Amino acid sequence: MYHKILRDASLYDVLFKIDLDLAASRRAGGCSACGGRLHSARFRRKPRGGPEDLDPEYEWRLSFCCAVEGCRQRATPASVRFLGRRVYLGAVVVLVTAMTHGVTPRRAAELRAVLGVKRRTLERWRSWWCGIFVASPFWRSVRGRFMPPLAVGALPGSLLERFGVEAATTVTRALQFLAPITMSSPRVGACTPMGG
Ligand SMILES: [Zn+2]
Repeated sequence: MYHKILRDASLYDVLFKIDLDLAASRRAGGCSACGGRLHSARFRRKPRGGPEDLDPEYEWRLSFCCAVEGCRQRATPASVRFLGRRVYLGAVVVLVTAMTHGVTPRRAAELRAVLGVKRRTLERWRSWWCGIFVASPFWRSVRGRFMPPLAVGALPGSLLERFGVEAATTVTRALQFLAPITMSSPRVGACTPMGG
C-alpha cells in the first residue's frame, strides 16, 4: 500500500508545507542562545528516492542563523522531509524499511530495485531503527504513549500501523511524530562559515 505513495508528488508537497510551518515557528522563537533575530541560512541537500518531478526546493534544508554578531548560533528546525543526514528522503527511509520487513528475500530485492536502494543501505536503516533509534532519548520519552507497546523489532512498520490506514496520511503523521529527532542535525553551533 505504500509503494505508490512514494512516487506521488502530492505527498512531497504536503511535507514541504509542513516543513515551512516548522521553520516559521522555529524562526519566530528567535535564537536559543541570545534571543536574537534569526535569518535564513538554509543549506544544500541532494535528496534521493523521491519522484522525478520533485520540487527543486527539496535541494534545500531550511535552517537559520542568529543575526547577532558574536553569537551567530545556527538554528535548524525539525523537518518531515529529511531524517537527519541521510541522503534518502525521510519518507523513503521509513516506507522502504517498513515495506521490506517480513517479506520474502525475493520481494525485498524487487522493492529495492524499483526504489533504487542498495541492500547495504537498507541493512543500515534497519539496524538504525532497531539500535540507535530505540536507544535514543526521544524514543525512551515517547514509547510509553503506545499501548499496547510497539514491537520494536518491526519498526518502523509497527509505528506506521498506529498512525492510520490511508498511506499518505499515515506517513505524514509518522514523519511529524519523528520530526524532533531531525533537529540534532549535522550543522549545530556557530554557522558563520556556512553560506546559502
Ligand atoms: Zn544568538
